[in-house]
Amino acid sequence: MIKLNFLGALGTIGASGLLVEYGANKIVIDYGVKVSDTPPSFPFEVKGIVTSAFLSHCHLDHSGALPLLLKRNNLDKIYSTKVTKELTELLLIDSIKVNREEGVELKFSEEDVEKTMKIFRYLEYGESLKLKNNVEVTFYDAGHIPGSAFVFMDLDGKHLLYTGDFNTEDTRLIKGCEKNLPEVDILITEGTYYDRNHPDRESQEKELVKIIRETLANDGITIVSGFAVGRIDELLLVLDKYGIDYPVYVDGMAKKAITIINKYQNFLKDPKSLDKALRKVEFITEDYQRKKVLKEPCVILTTSGMLKGGPVVWYLEKLYSRKNCSLVITGFQVEGTPGKKLLDTGYYINEKYGLNLKLKMGFKRLDFSSHVGRDNLIDFIKKLNPEKIYCVHSDNTEGLKEELEKQGFDAVAPSPENRFFNI
Ligand SMILES: [Zn+2]
Ligand SMILES: [Zn+2]
Repeated sequence: MIKLNFLGALGTIGASGLLVEYGANKIVIDYGVKVSDTPPSFPFEVKGIVTSAFLSHCHLDHSGALPLLLKRNNLDKIYSTKVTKELTELLLIDSIKVNREEGVELKFSEEDVEKTMKIFRYLEYGESLKLKNNVEVTFYDAGHIPGSAFVFMDLDGKHLLYTGDFNTEDTRLIKGCEKNLPEVDILITEGTYYDRNHPDRESQEKELVKIIRETLANDGITIVSGFAVGRIDELLLVLDKYGIDYPVYVDGMAKKAITIINKYQNFLKDPKSLDKALRKVEFITEDYQRKKVLKEPCVILTTSGMLKGGPVVWYLEKLYSRKNCSLVITGFQVEGTPGKKLLDTGYYINEKYGLNLKLKMGFKRLDFSSHVGRDNLIDFIKKLNPEKIYCVHSDNTEGLKEELEKQGFDAVAPSPENRFFNI
């Protein structure tokens, strides 16, 4: 009997985690936090020893609680791709720092992160790992960010696919997910955008370039905010492709993330492309550099993606009243974040920094999502045609379940009250 115990991302996005028990195996896939909560909320605890863990990708909603598995469950091996491991270290250390600045001590320390890094083992796309009781685990490219993986499990003949976060479409940075997958009986899918399609990516690229060109023509500065991992690098490729030859700067944690991603060029769609785009870019790390770059028209790509913290706060404080400047937000804005409030009200409200600013600079959100949109999600699932689908990682997993039932599938939306299943 296969036992599934859903640990998080139940009717919400955040704190992803799944425990799969079969024979002597007690396997955890992902163990993240809900970043939008302060303090961040954690997945359900697992009792007893965990024999191995698999990490789909580095984002904190999938990785942010991993050190607890070592402390509580004697975990001694975590499998991920190489680039995922390095990016996870960067994000875990940063999460301790960011929470500390807000007066929150997480349940693990920098030392625990260091111990966690030591038990990582690598699994590359298409590579299989044999475990006890005829269990075999294989990673496939999930197309979400560099290094992201589908976790495919052959449990003594029963096939389970855990999608993590995924995207079927190519971006300038990476290819869409693997389409040639083995047969799948049990599918555990994300559904972030199960009810919406994304606009064509090229239209978003062109809109971004148009805003930048118009702003430069008015001697202004464009601030482009984005997530540190995978997004800023994609935008650099876009600027390179469209030949933006004004100074382009990158500020914030994106620098470290880009450096790591560029080390593992085999995860990129066009291996040398990031190298080439980076030749024109200058990294900013200090306040004196920030002050200097504001003197001339330019483009600044920076974090954080939802305007909560990071250098973008500093730039907005300096530029908010300049009508010839603009802000482009490139990612999903979670309810309650300063980015979402800005889009709804036109005010940049950031309580942590005591800011309440009416923006005179132009601002716009563009959709550079790294998650599959509605039609592609349904097509992907139809092609797999699984016996049973478990819906997680969406603000409305019930809605996703109903949508899949309409398409003739047997679907469940696990909830905190109903999260144990035997197969
Ligand atoms: Zn993700
Ligand atoms: Zn996620």
